[in-house]
Amino acid sequence: MITYEPIIGLEIHAELMSKSKMFCGCKVVDSVTAPPNTAVCPVCLGMPGMLPVINRQAVEFSIKVAIALNCDVQHHNIFARKNYFYPDLAKAYQVTQYEQPIGLNGWVDIELGTGETKRIRIRRVHMEEDTGKLTHENGRSLVDYNRAGVPLLEIVSEPDIHSGEEARAYGIKIRRILRYLGVNSGDMEKGVLRVEPNISLRPMGSTTFGTRTELKNLNSFRALADGSAYEIMRQETILRAGGAVVQETRGWHDSKRITFSQRVKEEAEDYRYFDEPDLPPLFVDEEWITAVAQTLPELPDAKLARYQIEYDLSPYDAAVLADEIRVATWFETAVTVNSAITPKTIANWVINALFRLMNNAKLTIDEISITPEQLVELLGLIADQTINQNSGRKVLDEMFETGKTAVSIIESKGLTQISDEDALAAIVAQLLADNADSVAAYCGGNKKVRGFLIGQVMRATKGKANPRLVNDLLTKALA
Ligand code: ADP
Ligand code: MG
Ligand code: ZN
Repeated sequence: MITYEPIIGLEIHAELMSKSKMFCGCKVVDSVTAPPNTAVCPVCLGMPGMLPVINRQAVEFSIKVAIALNCDVQHHNIFARKNYFYPDLAKAYQVTQYEQPIGLNGWVDIELGTGETKRIRIRRVHMEEDTGKLTHENGRSLVDYNRAGVPLLEIVSEPDIHSGEEARAYGIKIRRILRYLGVNSGDMEKGVLRVEPNISLRPMGSTTFGTRTELKNLNSFRALADGSAYEIMRQETILRAGGAVVQETRGWHDSKRITFSQRVKEEAEDYRYFDEPDLPPLFVDEEWITAVAQTLPELPDAKLARYQIEYDLSPYDAAVLADEIRVATWFETAVTVNSAITPKTIANWVINALFRLMNNAKLTIDEISITPEQLVELLGLIADQTINQNSGRKVLDEMFETGKTAVSIIESKGLTQISDEDALAAIVAQLLADNADSVAAYCGGNKKVRGFLIGQVMRATKGKANPRLVNDLLTKALA
């Protein structure tokens, strides 16, 4: 029986978070919450005779992305008109880059579930403008042009992806980079990031591609993985039955979990592309590229590697902390506060304690009141044995809740660790006297009793006893 090889190439559309639109001064607003048609002007409404002007910030954001995706940034940029009629496109053409885009020949490494990485080549990155938004309800269609003309970046991969899960890993990686660069929020539910896989099958070993379909309406990475997997299965069934796959655009039905035909695919000829006569060529010189390159933050892969080498973190901890730039920055600030507190200790507390509190309270790192300095102060108080680990967790809970500092909480709650050897020795002696049965059992060989005795001491001290000291004292006393 023939085995088929799935081939997937992704087109990703990312709206850019510039202040204004691609070719006019209208503000870029939230297309879900802003009142419809309040951020529009004659240019983005396509009125005759209006002239577009290229948005410098949007171009710089695009250069950033092209550099971060290892593309050759192109000097000569040409905008073109892609002609088609649709009610969400007032001009009846979209301004886009066609033959001369901003970025060519890039790549990105994706993480596979196995822990390995795989390089996916990026064919091109080009600038364009978004369309308006149509809403169909009660037999009427409404159009909102707030989104019309919002800068849009299209990132097109080579067909190097071979499964739904790889497509998902690629999408996650691109989103992480865009968020690091601060050019896109990554909010797929709001449609600011849209991912469209092209999928085909070919007999394993074949060097030509099979007929592809393109999937739309994927509003999550889960849908990307599942929709692609479904499409691979659907095409395989057709091919095995001796049929032919139709080249078309298909939608993903998220609740039925199937794809369905939307429209037969257009060819480039259908769009009558030609150079945009209202815009001059855009020249991006080497100096500009260099200047933009200097504004790039350390990127996720570099951070991931550095956290493991320089900070001695596990791959898992490094990945969790490097996932989002704001978390990474918070963590790195904490690392610089006190060299006596290791990055590993800080990572443990952030991942195991702070993230849990943030999850429960549904807060992001930007929204919490605890500063990196305050967390490290707390860890210092544990390190110098002012309080023990247990109390430390309670103090952190309270810091999170109230915004108070560790020192003031420890004072007001009297949590200072009991490290006074004489005082603890007296408590231990008293307990052993009160629990003669247990002591006898211990001496008779039941070593488990020791844990019980330690628990009794901690209880008698309301959890404040220095655990190491209790341990030593108990050893001495029992001997
Ligand atoms: P368009 O969809 O606008 O015609 P392209 O032809 O450049 O644009 O292809 C878009 C995407 O489809 C790219 O990511 C490319 O890698 C991918 N692709 C092209 N041919 C195939 C194929 N036969 N199977 C799967 N993906 C493909
Ligand atoms: Mg396409
Ligand atoms: Zn406008």
